[in-house]
Amino acid sequence: MFPFQLKVVSIPVKYNFRQIKNREIALFEGPEGWSEFSPFIEYNNKESATWLKAALESATKPAPKPVRNEVEVNATLPNMKVDQVSTLLASFNGCTTVKVKVNDFINDQFLLQEVLRKIPGAKFRLDVNGGWNLEEAIANLRNYLQEFPGQIDYVEQPCLDIADLKSLRQTVKIPIAVDESIRKYLGSDLTRLKEVADVAIIKWAPSGGFLSAFEVIEKIQLPVVISSALDSSVGISHGLSLAASIPNLYGPCGLATTALLEADVTSKPLIAENGYIKNRRIVPDLIEEFKVLPARQSWWQDRVNEIYAEVS
Ligand SMILES: [Mg+2]
Repeated sequence: MFPFQLKVVSIPVKYNFRQIKNREIALFEGPEGWSEFSPFIEYNNKESATWLKAALESATKPAPKPVRNEVEVNATLPNMKVDQVSTLLASFNGCTTVKVKVNDFINDQFLLQEVLRKIPGAKFRLDVNGGWNLEEAIANLRNYLQEFPGQIDYVEQPCLDIADLKSLRQTVKIPIAVDESIRKYLGSDLTRLKEVADVAIIKWAPSGGFLSAFEVIEKIQLPVVISSALDSSVGISHGLSLAASIPNLYGPCGLATTALLEADVTSKPLIAENGYIKNRRIVPDLIEEFKVLPARQSWWQDRVNEIYAEVS
């Protein structure tokens, strides 16, 4: 049996980010404070077990020693309608680096142009989630580089295939960040990623927590961007602890994502202020407002018990 009392909440998501309307999140309090277990509903036990490992570590072990008190953050835009951009951007106070989920150049160039109307000097991170083959990546990125010269910070996971990333890197002069290449292949030889990438995207829960993240970072030997997975402020607080403790950060981190939620579990959410978020722990004082119905609570209770039995 899972040893902590689960409090499951459902938080509405703006703009159906990741095609979901509500984010279900299980929270619990351990001796070291509040923690979050929120693998997406469709994740299997094996993948979710990694998230549970992270959640348990944060609830029961002290956070890593910080080397900074606040973390610079980027804005994160889903693949949204152009006329929604300015409203969402306003919830990322002071952020000048903007990560945009893109499918192509033809349609999505207008998202970047709209951002530039609001933030003239913006730097972009294009997140493709591995959606392009090599030819598509070359064509799209050449267009982006031509249309937005000097403004593309990097492209995140343009292709899934490692060989494609390598060819792309030899063909188009653009820094490449790897995300899916890391978290879907945690058991494989990560030391080779520095041959195909310039930046490593690391996430607290999908990595399995602080210690596992440090191990991965040590193996990869690339500058790091800590990112999140549509967490509540509780999960974000652990991402912040991680980012605050890492010496070789590449730049702003993807930790301002509570702006993509309609609400949060705390009255003091972790949101960007002047482009930074302070590293602090969160006590979720709004759990009652977003509590799920009993059927969902027991679904999560069963899920966590089952996974806990497998990992312990
Ligand atoms: Mg990504």
